[in-house]
This record gives sequence, C-alpha cells and structure tokens, in this order.
Amino acid sequence: MKKEKEEKEDEEKSEGVKKEEKEEEKKEEKKAEIKKTFVNPFSQKAPGSGDPGADYDPRKAKYHPVKDAFWQKGQKMPYLALAKTLEAIEETSGRLKIVEILANFLRSVIVLSPDDFLFCVYLCLNKVAPAFEGLELRIGDTILIRAIAQASGRSPEKIKADAERLGDLGIVAEQSRTNQRVMFQPAKLTVAGVFKKLKEIALMTGHASQAKKIDLVKGMYVACRFCEAKYLVRSLGGKLRIGLAEQSVLMAIAQACYLTPPGQEYPPEVVDAGAGRNPDKLKAEIDEYALILKTTYCEFPSYDEIIPVLLKEGLKKLPEHCKLTPGVPLKPMLAHPTTGVSEVLKRFDNAKFTCEFKYDGERAQIHMKEDGTINIYSRNQEDNTSKYPDIISRFKNSLGEGVKSCVVDSEAVAWDRNKNRILPFQILSTRKKKDARESQITVQVCVFPFDLLYLNGEPLVREPFEKRRALLRENFNEVEGEFVFATSMDATNTEDIEEFLEESIKGNCEGLMVKTLDVDATYEIAKRSHNWLKLKKDYLDGVGDTIDAVVIGGYLGKGKRAGLYGGFLLACYDVENEEYQSLCKIGTGFSDEDLAKHTEFFKQHIIENPKSYYRYDNAVAPDHWFDAVQVWEVKCADLSISPVHKAGQGIVDPEKGISLRFPRFLHIRDDKNPEDATSANQIAELYRNQEQIKTSKTKSAGDDDDFY
Ligand code: ATP
Repeated sequence: MKKEKEEKEDEEKSEGVKKEEKEEEKKEEKKAEIKKTFVNPFSQKAPGSGDPGADYDPRKAKYHPVKDAFWQKGQKMPYLALAKTLEAIEETSGRLKIVEILANFLRSVIVLSPDDFLFCVYLCLNKVAPAFEGLELRIGDTILIRAIAQASGRSPEKIKADAERLGDLGIVAEQSRTNQRVMFQPAKLTVAGVFKKLKEIALMTGHASQAKKIDLVKGMYVACRFCEAKYLVRSLGGKLRIGLAEQSVLMAIAQACYLTPPGQEYPPEVVDAGAGRNPDKLKAEIDEYALILKTTYCEFPSYDEIIPVLLKEGLKKLPEHCKLTPGVPLKPMLAHPTTGVSEVLKRFDNAKFTCEFKYDGERAQIHMKEDGTINIYSRNQEDNTSKYPDIISRFKNSLGEGVKSCVVDSEAVAWDRNKNRILPFQILSTRKKKDARESQITVQVCVFPFDLLYLNGEPLVREPFEKRRALLRENFNEVEGEFVFATSMDATNTEDIEEFLEESIKGNCEGLMVKTLDVDATYEIAKRSHNWLKLKKDYLDGVGDTIDAVVIGGYLGKGKRAGLYGGFLLACYDVENEEYQSLCKIGTGFSDEDLAKHTEFFKQHIIENPKSYYRYDNAVAPDHWFDAVQVWEVKCADLSISPVHKAGQGIVDPEKGISLRFPRFLHIRDDKNPEDATSANQIAELYRNQEQIKTSKTKSAGDDDDFY
C-alpha cells in the first residue's frame, strides 16, 4: 500500500516536472520567436565593426575608468556609454553587482566627463528634475509610435501591434531601425544632448506641441546606434524600468566617488582607491560614504544642487553645503510597525517617549521661506501647494511672533466643521488634487502639526524630539478646527497607553504613533528607524499593520466579473535584490466600480512577459502581467508560510516565502511609488511578530534596517 502511494507520488512529481519543463520549452520558443521576428544587426555586438563603443562593458572585473572607457577626456560623452550601462544593468540580477556596474561607469564619468555626471544620474533614474518640480517624462505611445514610424518607414499599425505583442516599445524601436534608410549618418548622440532634449520635451505643453515633440524624438531616433534606441524610447515614455532603484544609484555614486575621487588633475593619480584593500574594511568605508550621501539626499533631495558640490568639494563635504532648506521638501521620517503595547514598552525600555494620535489623512510638509512664500509637499516630495490654498491662507493665523521661516511636519485631515470632528480618509481623497480654488472647496481640512524641522534659518533635524516639540508649541498657535497640535500623552504604563489607543480610535484616528523624546530622538530619515513606532488598531487582529503591495498581474474574471479582471497578483518589494516577490492573489474588497476602474487602468500596463525582476511560481502566473506601476493598501487576516509565494523567501524559511491570507483591497496608494511598497523584510517582520503573539515568545523581532 505504502509502495503504491510512493509510486503515485513519484508519478505526480514527474508530472509536475514535465509540466514545468513544457512551460520552460514554451518560454524558450517564445524568446526564439521574438529573436527570429526581429533580427537586428545593430543590437549584436559588432566585433571589428570599427566602433569601440560596441564593446564597452562596465561589468568588467578590475574596471579601469580611463582605459576601459571608449571616449576621451574633453570629448563629448557618448550616449552609447550610458545605454550600454543600462543594458548591462538590465541583464544583471543582484544588487551588489548592479551597483558595481553603475559605479564603474560613473568612475569614468568622474574622470572623463564630470560635466555630464548630473545628466547621467537623471537619465539612470528616468527623471529630468527633482520630484517637487513636477516635471515628468511621460510621452504617450501614440507620439512615440508616430515618430518611429516616420523615421523607420514602418507603418504605425505594425509598430503598435509589435509593441502590444512584446509589451515594450523600446525593443520595437530598436528592431525597427533595421528598416531605416538614411542619406547620411547623423551625428552620434551625446549624453548632454539627449538629456537637454528630454527636458525640453518634458517642458512642452499643449496639443500644439505634438508635432514639435515628434520632430525632436525623430531627430534623436535616427541617430541611435546599437541598443540606444531601446533605452531612449523607454526613457521618453517614462518606462525605463530596468530594475534600478534610487537606493542603488545613491550607493553607486558613493562607491564611484570613493574609488575614483572627483576633482583630481588629469590623468588622475587615484583611479581605484580600493585596489589591494581588505574587503571588509573597504566595504565599511564605502558604506560610511553612502550614509553621508543618503542622509544629505534625504534632507535635501535635489541632485541639481548635490552633484556640483560633490564634484567640486568631495562627498565628505556634502553636509556642510547641502542642508535642509525651506522650498526643498525633505524625505519624511517613517515609523516602524508594532504589534502591541508590550512590544512598544520593550523597545523603548530605557528611553523617554510620548504617544500621539495617528491621524488618518495626508502628510503635509509645510514650508515657509523668509520671503513669506508657503509651499506644501506630499510624502513623496510632490508639490501639493495648489491643492491646499485653504491651509496656505490660514497658516499665518498660527504663526507665532518672530517666525520668519519654518518647516512643519503635519497631517492634513478631513474635518467636519458642524460636528467638530475628524472625517475618514476617503472623504479627504475626494478633494481636487491640483489648482483648487479656495471658494469652491467643500471638504474642509484641519492640520495636525506633529513636528518642527526648521525654524528661522536653523535645521532642527539633529535636535531631539523633545526640543523640536517644545519649539513647535512655543512658536505656533492653535486655531480650533484649522491648526491643532497632535494630541499626545507622555505616560508610559500599559494601561494608560491602552486607554489612549482606544481614545484615538474613538476620535476617528488609526491608532498611535509612539516617539522617543530624548535618547535617539533625532529626525531620522535615511533609514526607517525604530525611534517612531506605529501602533495601529489592526494590531488587535494580530497583523499589526496594513500592507502596501504592488499589483503585478491580473486574472480574467468569470460570470459576473466577465470582461473585467476578477483578481490580481500582488507583490512586495525586496530592497536587497531589487525585485518584486509575489505575495498573494487578491479578489476581495472590490466594488464593481473598483474592478472596472482597475481593469481600465491595468489594460494600459499589460506586458507580454513578466519582468526579469518578478519572483513568482508558475502556479500563480496571472492571465496578464502588468508593469509594476501601482500600489494598493490591503488588509489581511494573517500571514503564513507559503509553498508558492515568494515574499521574503530565505528570511524566515530557507526555501519558502510568506503570503497574506484572506487579503482585502482597501484603496490605491497614489502617494507611494512601487519601490516604497512594503518590503520583503517588513513582511518577514510582520510574520515573526504575529508568530510571537501566537506563541507569546519573548524573543525580540528582527531589527533589519530598512532604508527609506
Ligand atoms: P509608512 O509611512 O510607514 O511607509 P504609510 O505611508 O502607510 O507607511 P502609515 O503606516 O500610515 O504610513 O504611518 C505613517 C504616516 O502616518 C505618516 O507618514 C503620516 O502621514 C501619518 N501620521 C498621522 N499622525 C501622525 C503623527 N502623530 N506623527 C507622525 N505621523 C503621523
């Protein structure tokens, strides 16, 4: 009987293996088909083609920033060098290797083309300006297709069909170049030229600018060589998506500046400061550099200002020159989830701390410059000034005497003026997002300030919270229903905290924020610190927090949901490996309206194949894969070890990942980028915490630092 069972299991296993093999074969066939349809002589390495750029490879071991580059000092930096670097990164998995590739390339830029350094950084990030300037590159496919069609002589319909089939207009653009007939070879693309044109295009507005945009794109496209067209077209569409997170770019900048310091005479004396060094010591020193850069960037997130200082003064001098300044939104300090009052007490064993209501609205960083200009920025450093003219006009009523400039951290919450009470977040989200007129505002807001980060010329982020809070209270006045200090309580025993938590929930808040006052109480941004803990009412359900997950695929609906997506595949983001790891399928919590809206949205983001940086098991492969573009806040009953899902694989269990059980959709998180989704480490920590509650173990949860 036992034997029979074993045989049956073997059979089932071998069936499973066969199925996997077949799927692999199918994938290979598909890849071969793509290759066959589009054999592009330009994208092949062209040994002997006479073009040294064809063989540029920043992956090289013992990379030499001058000898391994293919352009000379003083020469305009070729865009091909950057495109080849982006290609190498796209083909690589593993954060450390990606950082090394980018750092190698940047080392060459430091020595040979420092004036192009800023452009390279922006192009790697697929940006043209800091977030608060609101300038985005997002040229629609229609314009890009028309430009490619006009330049290549292919029909727009065919290009569109290929793009739909391959899910990547960049590849189609690259392949379409084989058709192109040119009378004479246009000048080679340069990094500076491409960046300036991209910015010019991003600045163009209105329908009339379409023809101009097509001309500019066409002009660049005909000059493309090798893989340039692929990355140029993806950049133009705002869809570079090569799996390169901003964290890695910052790390690579630090590494490059350490190994090949900027500002040296040419030829440089130090080309590789790491050569022959002890690897552990080297790593520690590079990490120290990276922390300086990350901290500066968090307090002053503007490459426009940081890069020139970096090149002129060196990385270590950054904090002296680039400081928190009103008008430049800083990254927000984030909190760490906890599962209950006992965890809070354990973590803050020796520190003085306070509990504040955790308001459920939108973070509002209010900046006032010396000239009186007021700006409000979001959690993502977007400029929300025109969304809140009411807050701006009332702000002066709360300013104490002598306040000339400031940065106040606060939560803007929907407010019922008749009943004098907080309204749910859903009401706030109905407010106009931009260009609101004060007279037409129907949803009123009350601002709950909870921190003061800058006052009269002085950054306060290095001061303890106790001092910042005292300065906030001294220098600002409360106005009922408009500007009210976050309700707080400094008691530290379990009963009082439990009671305060209940009170916060009765007051329509999400729970509590618990903050250290004296020890380790600076405004810490470069990493998600443990100085702020969040204690949400959800902890009572055992999970501790809602989860912000990225939608990476959709399942076609049946029956009542036919014609729509009936379910979705969600993923968390693994910062370490820069990949999206499947977390759960979700099909609950949606109204009919939600499903119609999601279907309409995700139809625009279908990709033919999953990205190389998606981790999933074929058993949960969706009907359609999506680009990772939207974050959803979801709630779940609990987390469990999963044989199929990949979230946090290797952290809690060496093989298996973690999945959410009974997930429910709550709402879209417009204020979060996919890379800001709940991380694999956080998922693992939520899981551990929940297990701790179950087994009432006293062992403390993992303290993995999770950089912003
Ligand atoms: P995270 O910011 O941790 O990634 P999140 O964006 O989902 O997660 P929450 O978990 O809800 O945010 O908690 C942090 C947010 O709570 C802050 O960004 C802020 O907008 C809001 N908040 C409300 N009240 C307070 C308070 N008293 N102190 C600090 N933040 C508060």
